[in-house]
Amino acid sequence: MTKKLCTFIMCLSCAMVTFAQKKYSKKQIEKLKSEANALIETDKKLAQVMVDKIFSFAELGFQEEESSKYLTGVLQENGFEIEHSLSGIPTSWFAKWSNGDGPVIALGSDVDCIPKASQYPGVAFHKPIVEGAPGHGEGHNAGIPLNIMSALAVKEIMEKENIGGTLILWPGIAEELVAAKAWYVRDGLFDDIDMCIFTHVGNNLGVSYGPTRGTGLISVEYSFDGEAAHSAGSPWRGKSALDAAELMNIAWNYKREHLHPLKRSHSIFTDAGDQPNVVPSKAAIWFYLRDIKYEGIMEMYALANDMAKGAALMTGTTMTSKVLGTAWPRHYNKVIAETMYDNITKVGLPVWSEADQTLAKAVQTEVGSEKIEGLPTELSPLGLPVEEPVSGGSDDIGDISWKVPTVTMRFPSNIPGLQGHHWSNAIAMATPIAHKGVVAGAKAEAMTILDFLTKPELLEGAWDYFKNVQQKETTYKPMISDTDMPPIYLNTDKQGQFREELQKYYYDETKYDSYLEQLGVEYPTVKE
Ligand SMILES: [Zn+2]
Repeated sequence: MTKKLCTFIMCLSCAMVTFAQKKYSKKQIEKLKSEANALIETDKKLAQVMVDKIFSFAELGFQEEESSKYLTGVLQENGFEIEHSLSGIPTSWFAKWSNGDGPVIALGSDVDCIPKASQYPGVAFHKPIVEGAPGHGEGHNAGIPLNIMSALAVKEIMEKENIGGTLILWPGIAEELVAAKAWYVRDGLFDDIDMCIFTHVGNNLGVSYGPTRGTGLISVEYSFDGEAAHSAGSPWRGKSALDAAELMNIAWNYKREHLHPLKRSHSIFTDAGDQPNVVPSKAAIWFYLRDIKYEGIMEMYALANDMAKGAALMTGTTMTSKVLGTAWPRHYNKVIAETMYDNITKVGLPVWSEADQTLAKAVQTEVGSEKIEGLPTELSPLGLPVEEPVSGGSDDIGDISWKVPTVTMRFPSNIPGLQGHHWSNAIAMATPIAHKGVVAGAKAEAMTILDFLTKPELLEGAWDYFKNVQQKETTYKPMISDTDMPPIYLNTDKQGQFREELQKYYYDETKYDSYLEQLGVEYPTVKE
C-alpha cells in the first residue's frame, strides 16, 4: 500500500491503517529503547558540535543559509535524501530516509534567531559577540540537532532490526516571522506524513496535549503611498504616507483599550520616510495580531484593514496590504503526548553541575527574574488541555498540528525565568546546559519514535483523537491564500550587514573542543 493511500484511508475511516510490522513484546521494545539511548549517549559529542555550530552562525529568518547547508550536510552524510528550496523558500529543506512500509514520522524544529541578541555563551551579563548582530536569543539552535541525534539512533536500530518506516526531518524556517509552516501545509508537504514530533527549547523536559497556552496570529504589513514635496518649500503639495501609517497606529492604540485581554497586538514601522525635508511618499507599518482562536484573529484582521483604509482616506494616500505570516492556535495530540511523557519520566532531567547552576542563578539575578532558583531538578507534569485560555506567544507549528497528529516536546536547554527574545536567552545555548538538554530530549524523542514504529495501535489512536476529538468542533481554514508567497526578502539587509563580521566567530570544531573554548570563555563567567 502506498503511503498516500495509507493516509487517505486513515483519514476516511478513522485510523483503520495497519502496517505489516513484526510484533514486538514490551521487553523487546524496552531493549530497543535502551539501545537507542546508548547510541545517543555514545554520540553526544555530535550534539555539542551541532548545537555550537548553529549558535555561531546566528542567522535570522529566511537567512538560514549556513545553518541549512551544515545540517543537511550532516543528514546527507548519514544517508538522508535532501530536497531543497520547498515552498519557494531557498533555505528550506526536507530530509528523508525510508526503510520501507511503515509509519511516516516527521521531526521538526526551528532554526532562525533573534535580531540584536548576539551574546557570549556562558557569560552571565550582556556581552555581545558582535555588537548589534543577531543571536540565538530564543534557542532555536538546539532543536534540529536534537532531532538529528534521535533520528540517527532510531535509523541504526531500524536498519539492524529491519523495522519499516520513514523518518523526515524538516526545519521551521523563519519561525520568528511565522512565515513557513502554513506554506508547507498549503503546498502539500505534510500530505503523506502520519505524525509529527516538533521540538522546542524550554527549561524543563515536557509535553502537553489539547489546546495550548498562547495564541495564533496573522502578520500583516500595511503600505501607504502618498506624494512627496519639499517639507519647507511646498508642504501643502505633499501627501504624507507617514501621516497615514502614524494615524493607523494611533487608531489601533486607542482600540487596544477595548480589546479582550486574551488578544495581543504589536507593531513596528518598516518604512517611516527617508529624511525630514522630504514629505514621505511611502511608509509602512507591520502588525502581529494575535488571539486564542482563529475567528478572533480574523476579526482583528478585518478591523485593522478598516483602520488602514480610514488612514488612507484621512491623508489622501492609497493603501495596500500584504500577509507576511500566519500561525494557527495550536492543538496537540493526546496519544503522542501521553506516550512521550511516559518516556520522559524514564529519561528524567539532566544532572546539572555546580557550574551550570551558578550560571543559571547569576543570569536570573542579572535580568531580575522573579525567582532565583537555578535550573529545574524536578520534571514538570504532563501538560493537560488548558481549561481557562491563557494568552501569550504563537508558533506556526499550529498549522501543522491541524494537518497531522502533532506534539511539541520542550527540552531543558535554557534557563527558567528569562523574558524571551532577549540576549539573556542566548547565554545557556552553547554551554553544557544546552548540550545536556539536547541529549535528554533526543532520548525521549527516540524512545517515542520506537513506540510508534513498533506499536501500530498507537498511530491508530493518535488519528482517532485527531479526527474525533480535536477536529470535532474546529475545521482548519488557512489564513494564507493560494497565491500568497513567503516574504523571503525579509532580514536580507539585517543579516547582510553582519554576516562578514559573524563569520570570524563561526565555530571550528576541528580546532576547538567547544565554542566556549574557541571564544576563550571561562565557564561560568559571572559578576563578582
Ligand atoms: Zn521559538
